[in-house]
Amino acid sequence: MLTKTKPLPHPDLERVLVSKTSISRRLKKLGVEISESYGSQEITVVAIINGAIFFTADLLRRISTPIRLDCIRVSSYRNQTRPTGTPRILDTLLLDVEERHVLLVDDILDTGKTLSVVVDELKKRKPASIKTCVLLDKKARREVDFQSDFVGFTIPDRFVVGYGLDFAERYRNLSSIGILKPDLQNPPEWS
Ligand code: 5GP
Ligand code: MG
Repeated sequence: MLTKTKPLPHPDLERVLVSKTSISRRLKKLGVEISESYGSQEITVVAIINGAIFFTADLLRRISTPIRLDCIRVSSYRNQTRPTGTPRILDTLLLDVEERHVLLVDDILDTGKTLSVVVDELKKRKPASIKTCVLLDKKARREVDFQSDFVGFTIPDRFVVGYGLDFAERYRNLSSIGILKPDLQNPPEWS
C-alpha cells in the first residue's frame, strides 16, 4: 500500500514534530484544564513575547475564565540555538498584579532560567497566586529546578521552530512545530 508523506511546511525543516492538528487538539484540552483550575476567578495572563504570541492568542480563546492580558519581554537567544547567560527582563508589565491570579505563558521551557527569573520578578509584586503554562517542555535540558503547572507537549532535546518559535526571528509563522535542519543552525551570515 502506498503511504502518502505530507510535504514539509518549510524546506528548512528536518521534520515536523507537532502538527497543526495536534496543537489545536491539545489547546482545546489545556483550555478546559485551565478554566476548571481557576473557575470564575479572573486570571491576569502574562505572555512572554515574542515566542508566546501565537500560543497565547489561540489558548486564551479556549479559556472560559475572565482574563486580563499583559506581556513581558525577556532577552532572547538572538541568533543562537543555545542560551547566552542569564535572561534579563527588557520590557516589563503595565498591569498591576498585586492580589491577582497570574498565569505566566511561554512557548517553551528549556533550561528553566527564563521562567525562574520572570517568576521571581513577578513575586515581588505580591500576586495572589502565580502559575505557569508552556506549550513545550524540553525536560532533559533543565538546569534550574523548575516545573510548569500546565504543559502542552513534552519534547526531546532538539531545536524547534514554528508556531511562534523562531530562529533569528524567522519561522514564527509556520502553523506546525518542526525541527530545524542542523546545518542551518548558527549560520554566520544570518543576523
Ligand atoms: P530557558 O530559559 O528555559 O532555557 O529557555 C526558554 C526560552 O528559550 C524560550 O522562551 C525560547 O525563547 C527559547 N528556546 C528554548 N528552546 C528553544 C527551541 O528549541 N527553539 C526555539 N525557537 N527557542 C527555544
Ligand atoms: Mg522565548
